[in-house]
Amino acid sequence: MGIEESLPSGVALTSIEAVLDLARKHSQWPVTMGLACCSIEMMSAGTPRFDMARFGLEVFRASPRHADLMIIAGRMSHKMAPIVRRVYDSMPEPKWVIAMGACASSGGMFNNYALVQGADHIVPVDVYLPGCPPRPEALINSILVLREQISKEPIGAHRAEIARRAEEAALAA
Ligand code: SF4
Repeated sequence: MGIEESLPSGVALTSIEAVLDLARKHSQWPVTMGLACCSIEMMSAGTPRFDMARFGLEVFRASPRHADLMIIAGRMSHKMAPIVRRVYDSMPEPKWVIAMGACASSGGMFNNYALVQGADHIVPVDVYLPGCPPRPEALINSILVLREQISKEPIGAHRAEIARRAEEAALAA
């Protein structure tokens, strides 16, 4: 008799990997990283009207040590870039990044000396969210898209990918 037949009814078997995938997929805690106007929409996403708490996402953390998701909301100045990188480096792995809005994704309309032309020059970005600014619903959707990506990543793969992209970013700088 197989182990499944010997178990009482109502007991389900699964793999540790499947349980870890489920936990990783549903446990994003964003670090506070509002840099400009897009952050107003990010804050709105946490209000009862848009209610990102429905997805277990309302716990914005003031400390990067408690966070696994960075939402870069708004344009990033060169002066701010080292701080963003330091906060990112302080987050434990695995960790993910959403570039919220045109400015965080590509510099947007600000093609000038003061602003970084895309957050991916500073940290590896997993999801680019277009818009100026994107609506709160779009931000919530981008997190759901990220969750789908996370659920397809083999455990341990993300760490290697982060190291590879960090190396590429350092070489490009
Ligand atoms: Fe502001 Fe638009 Fe840039 Fe967002 S994308 S930071 S709303 S100018």
